[in-house]
Amino acid sequence: MTDRAAQFFRKAELQALIDELRRRDYNVVGPSIDQEAIVYTELTSVEQLPRGWTDEQAPGSYRLVRRDDDAWFGYVVGPHSWKKYLFPPRTKLLTVQKTEQGWSFLPAVLENTKTAMLGVRACELAAIAVQDRVFLGGPYKDRDYESRRKSLFLIAVNCTQAASTCFCTSMNTGPRCKSGFDLALTEIESGFLCEIGSDAGWDVLSACELQTATAEDLNEAESQRQRAVEMIERQMRTDDLPQLLLDNLNHPNWKAVGERCLSCTNCTMVCPTCFCSSVSEVRDLTTDQIDRERTWDSCFNPEFSYLGGTPVRNDTSARYRQWLTHKLGSWHEQFGTSGCVGCGRCITWCPVGIDLTAEVAAMREAPAP
Ligand code: SF4
Ligand code: SF4
Repeated sequence: MTDRAAQFFRKAELQALIDELRRRDYNVVGPSIDQEAIVYTELTSVEQLPRGWTDEQAPGSYRLVRRDDDAWFGYVVGPHSWKKYLFPPRTKLLTVQKTEQGWSFLPAVLENTKTAMLGVRACELAAIAVQDRVFLGGPYKDRDYESRRKSLFLIAVNCTQAASTCFCTSMNTGPRCKSGFDLALTEIESGFLCEIGSDAGWDVLSACELQTATAEDLNEAESQRQRAVEMIERQMRTDDLPQLLLDNLNHPNWKAVGERCLSCTNCTMVCPTCFCSSVSEVRDLTTDQIDRERTWDSCFNPEFSYLGGTPVRNDTSARYRQWLTHKLGSWHEQFGTSGCVGCGRCITWCPVGIDLTAEVAAMREAPAP
């Protein structure tokens, strides 16, 4: 791809971009408000964007508040992540049907909807890259994920603010979008600065009335992005994490956190990289048909470690330890990367406000003897 300088377009042009993607048979999905949270849903109009709203987040707390301006992307991340489009909560794998000759096994038809994601943050691009390694990186590729992934169009939006729960700078995943997108926008008052990340991005952008970005536009965009960097307070040291966790498998803190944790699974459901699933057979009582389905599961469910007649991890502290040591430790060995991108969702959506950065810090400050 040839190097193309950043372009500028006025805010109203974003509708032309959505229209163009839809004309090209993309299902455009992006942020909108539902049930007092910013979630990802199908978009046909810019009117659906959470214009003028922002999110205030803290451990165990999330609420939307009005901004004092009309920003279209002036929030951080909500309870949804893009994984619901690439690795949906429920996926049909196989249909088994009774015929006169016996049972026939029909693999599910692969989903080939073209999806365009609008508003993907830097940490979320990193999360998609992590799930790419999980589902496509080894010798056995996940056919369903592969099919959804190959027809994806990504419009990233740089963060111009951060929540108290964000720590992407520690995980080296943000807040600036550096790669893995077709287009990357930075919102300024009069419009969007747009970086082009692929030929497909440049091609789709032809639907918009483009202008050359002025030095003033570029400066405003840079100071908006810098604002996000400066707002990030939460930090986690990562250089020695896998070893720190391995050295502290019997730390008393696991018991303490196990007493607070409800095993509710929220942290794993909102996490953009968690990929635990279960497979079950679902019988339609009115036909001779059985569907095999894959559904999201969680290592916080006791049944998830059911082995040889009993759950192997049969108390909450063992399950929390499994989650954290996998996410921040053995994930490196397994996939060559951390399983955490620093989005902070697990901190915000934990009903008792358990904060993985605080748990790691507690272990670091007082290692097990
Ligand atoms: S572990 Fe928590 S902070 Fe890390 S990616 Fe998952 S939800 Fe985000
Ligand atoms: S750490 Fe929090 S969100 Fe995760 S299972 Fe425990 S109580 Fe639920």
